[in-house]
Amino acid sequence: MTSTPARLRLIDELPEEQADDAGCTADPQLHTGPDLFEEETPEDRAAREDVAKAVCAACPARLGCLAYALRVRPQVGVWAGYTAAELRKVTPLTETSAPAVASQAA
Ligand code: SF4
Repeated sequence: MTSTPARLRLIDELPEEQADDAGCTADPQLHTGPDLFEEETPEDRAAREDVAKAVCAACPARLGCLAYALRVRPQVGVWAGYTAAELRKVTPLTETSAPAVASQAA
């Protein structure tokens, strides 16, 4: 069974009732992939990630997990239904450049 430090921190941060029901605790390798010493073909990886995303879709901790993943930006794995690569493409609204508000004083 493989579990990354980032995933262990996620489980620690979730409310206890959500952590208990988080789908990735039963089989962490489903969400993180095999050990470095095991090979995984691109097809196997895509199939594994599809199953992991389906588990996330039914997970009661998904919203908190997404907030955590957007904050921590994990480099591998499936988080809240998104791969780490997909999460890298998401820019939280707080990081976007909002148009400057014109001064009311004139
Ligand atoms: S949403 Fe997915 S990755 Fe997040 S806690 Fe649930 S099962 Fe784990």
